Amino acid sequence: MTLFDSPAFEGHEGVHAFYDEKTGLKSIIAVHSTARGPAAGGCRMWPYASAEEALTDALRLSRAMSYKNAMADLELGGGKSVIIGDSRTQKTPALFEAFGRAVEAVGGRYWTAEDVGVSPEDLAHARRRTRYVAGLEGHPAASGDPSPVTAEGVFRGVRLCVRRALNRDLDDVTVAVQGVGHVGGHLARKLHAAGAKLIIADVNREAVERLAAETGAQVVAPSAIFDAEADVFAPCAMGGAISRETLPRITAPIIAGAANNQLADADTGRAVFERGILYAPDYVINGGGIINVAGEIRALDRDEAFDPAWVDVKLDRLAQTLDEVLEQAQRERRPSNEVANEIARARIAGGAEKRAAA
Ligand code: NAD
Repeated sequence: MTLFDSPAFEGHEGVHAFYDEKTGLKSIIAVHSTARGPAAGGCRMWPYASAEEALTDALRLSRAMSYKNAMADLELGGGKSVIIGDSRTQKTPALFEAFGRAVEAVGGRYWTAEDVGVSPEDLAHARRRTRYVAGLEGHPAASGDPSPVTAEGVFRGVRLCVRRALNRDLDDVTVAVQGVGHVGGHLARKLHAAGAKLIIADVNREAVERLAAETGAQVVAPSAIFDAEADVFAPCAMGGAISRETLPRITAPIIAGAANNQLADADTGRAVFERGILYAPDYVINGGGIINVAGEIRALDRDEAFDPAWVDVKLDRLAQTLDEVLEQAQRERRPSNEVANEIARARIAGGAEKRAAA
């Protein structure tokens, strides 16, 4: 199979491969779509076993960014970059400067930011060679840690789902939170402040115990969180939490959380729907983080300071989009993840038409 026939490539505008002999940089920048604006998505540094594996990951992630950015109503397309290497042992300032030159070579069609294995400090090195970098620190345009903003978006989404599905408020529900790291921790605190009861689990014992002391949450073992008697199951750990194995154990009528790629496969979305569960599509409800990054890109572009009020308006709009997805799914009796994909594709196509007409 050639690159152009591979299912992962489908829909991509371009894929750029970079090799820098001096630093050993091997990087792929995938641009899925610039229909709504320049492609934006983080850079992941990972010890991929092969270039093919790195390419497939870049393609899969860049398409997901197009969908996420469209649903967050941002004037951004989707892209992603990967650096092949071990982030613990192979990082050098020169490597990230070389990566900055690679981003610059794409000519502003791609904006990079952090992802797994890449820190704000690494990006500061890249920034010496290109302006198309967000996620910096100590800059008036800097947006800072996106996790609290992601958590705020998820919090608003959970509240919306509780009102839609149960006609109740947060002070009248129990939420099971799987993973209380950066986003899950902030989310749990917000839910607690709103009066919700919490059941929490994390493989990091210290993190759960600290949060339980703060919020009075009930702690359960990581393997037991799926059986929690809750109104909402909020996956905030790794991808693939909802699978053929775990779904039968979930009794909560709502699944709404921060994790990316919550559904183990496409069939699971249908199975969730058939069990009558209200599912908030992950890349819609967790769009707060990219909204925060978009706020930084906007500020850098305008040479202005970061504007939290702009982010807040976009978060409200995100909740409205989630409501529209859930409304359409209910009306048409279809899985919400399928409806979200359809709306995302239509928004991307609409962007392309607008650009062609301009
Ligand atoms: P994080 O690493 O800070 O937190 C994840 C937590 O999950 C950790 O505390 C970890 O110990 C725990 N965990 C791992 N495996 C577990 C298991 N089997 N059971 C219970 N807990 C487990 O990461 P984060 O930044 O909070 O992100 C959480 C999820 O949200 C990820 O899927 C991420 O891709 C997604 N997300 C994050 C952001 C953001 O702004 N950080 C934005 C969008 C989506």
